[in-house]
Amino acid sequence: MTSLTRADWEQRAQALAIECRAFVHGQPVDAVSGATFDCISPVDGRLLGKVASCDLADAERAVADARATFESGVWSRLAPAERKKIMIRFADLLDAHAEELALLETLDMGKPISDALSVDVPGASRAIRWSGEAIDKIYDEVAATPHNELGLVTREPVGVVAAIVPWNFPLIMTCWKLGPALSTGNSVIVKPSEKSPLTAIRMARLAIEAGIPAGVLNVLPGYGHTVGKALALHMDVDTLVFTGSTKIAKQLMIYAGESNMKRVWLEAGGKSANIVFADAPCLKEAAAAAAAAICFNQGEMCTAGSRLLVERSIKDQFMPMVLEAMQEWQAGHALDPATRVGALVDSQHLNAVLGYIEAGHADKAKLVCGGKRTLEDTGGVYVEPTIFDDAHNDMRIAREEIFGPVLTVIPFDSTEEAIRIANDSIYGLAAAIWTSNLSRAHLTAKALRVGSMWVNQYDGGDMTAPFGGFKQSGNGRDKSLHAFDKYTEIKATWIKL
Ligand code: NAD
Repeated sequence: MTSLTRADWEQRAQALAIECRAFVHGQPVDAVSGATFDCISPVDGRLLGKVASCDLADAERAVADARATFESGVWSRLAPAERKKIMIRFADLLDAHAEELALLETLDMGKPISDALSVDVPGASRAIRWSGEAIDKIYDEVAATPHNELGLVTREPVGVVAAIVPWNFPLIMTCWKLGPALSTGNSVIVKPSEKSPLTAIRMARLAIEAGIPAGVLNVLPGYGHTVGKALALHMDVDTLVFTGSTKIAKQLMIYAGESNMKRVWLEAGGKSANIVFADAPCLKEAAAAAAAAICFNQGEMCTAGSRLLVERSIKDQFMPMVLEAMQEWQAGHALDPATRVGALVDSQHLNAVLGYIEAGHADKAKLVCGGKRTLEDTGGVYVEPTIFDDAHNDMRIAREEIFGPVLTVIPFDSTEEAIRIANDSIYGLAAAIWTSNLSRAHLTAKALRVGSMWVNQYDGGDMTAPFGGFKQSGNGRDKSLHAFDKYTEIKATWIKL
């Protein structure tokens, strides 16, 4: 936790100089049209600035610049060991600006300042550093050829990458893309969410300071249906990487098909099951994790443990423990270092979350705690962490991604039933199981159709483990060396000796 007080953070927020322009070829620039949109903080309703509202003309300018930079070889043909040095310097600069970046992130999208500082900034710099460190340790392949031939299997950067990212972890999601995309030599255009554009713009300047050449990392803030769509339909973008909702992910596949068949890699939504068996090694620990799994980051998590499946025989004993653990997760002012649940991203999203709470009532799930907007006097957008018990998997609150701190509790009677319920979802991002039985742990983990599986913990993993989804949670993987697949083409060169 930071030693700064809320008053300190408030003071720094007042003094913060916020860059709101786009970033193209190493320079901040206004949108070609001159248009802007208001960037309002969900923490307290203050206006943070008027951000460049980019559109088709900006996409044309940035793609042309990214292409020219890529073709020049100034970055794409730099020795991997040189790129590594610069990437590590970039990561160091993110760490050196941790407080500024954390403050921008909190003001922009509402997460608790302590989390922004302890999770988001270090997570972002780790992603850049890890990918940079890896790049001069990856070898290409030599095929098993006859004696008089040589077969080389080499990887090349794809060229121009457009990265369209969401607002829930703006720094981390951007750096999960930038780490491998830049390390492998591509030129990148980041399209941050219109709800959280500020840290991406700031990072672009730090990238220049680190030595990443102008034109290699460009940032175009703006709306999805304008600049996002323009990038997705662009004939000269080679690869589109995306994190966001399943609805938009599907649209991007259509855009790629309608344009140049660019590669499309999608990290999309989730409705993850957190399954507590009667033989969980420690019910209290499982209860604490269940609360954290839905409350961390205000539940605005693709991996939120939003469906809590509890074996019926222990449910009466277990639920009071969950309720007690939820008391640790009260909503508070996001700039207060003690706060664990901050503001939702904006009032539009608040209304969506409140709509799901109404749907829970309408479907006759039992409200156990929360259920209301709170802290209105701050001028910000806060909601109480909420539990609906005695739900079943057909209810809207069990099927749809709420993306807020709203937990849906569903009882089950057997391992088979738990697996069936958990898999009965269009999503397949993550799941957790709590059991002391080794065979049940392995068999259930195999049976669940998800990209990340946790046993006796929730949300574990680091840069060494791939992250991504099965089914409509997406394709491809962020993190680990598997992420490099997205940003490279494989070439086979066959030589007669
Ligand atoms: P979103 O899909 O609404 O927006 C994501 C991005 O797409 C934004 O930058 C947006 O401006 C852009 N966009 C919107 N319409 C577009 C269009 N027509 N063309 C091009 N771009 C367009 O998602 P969101 O609300 O920002 O984020 C929440 C979603 O992200 C949730 O569904 C969550 O599960 C998902 N998410 C997934 C992961 C993961 O790794 N799987 C991680 C974090 C968040």
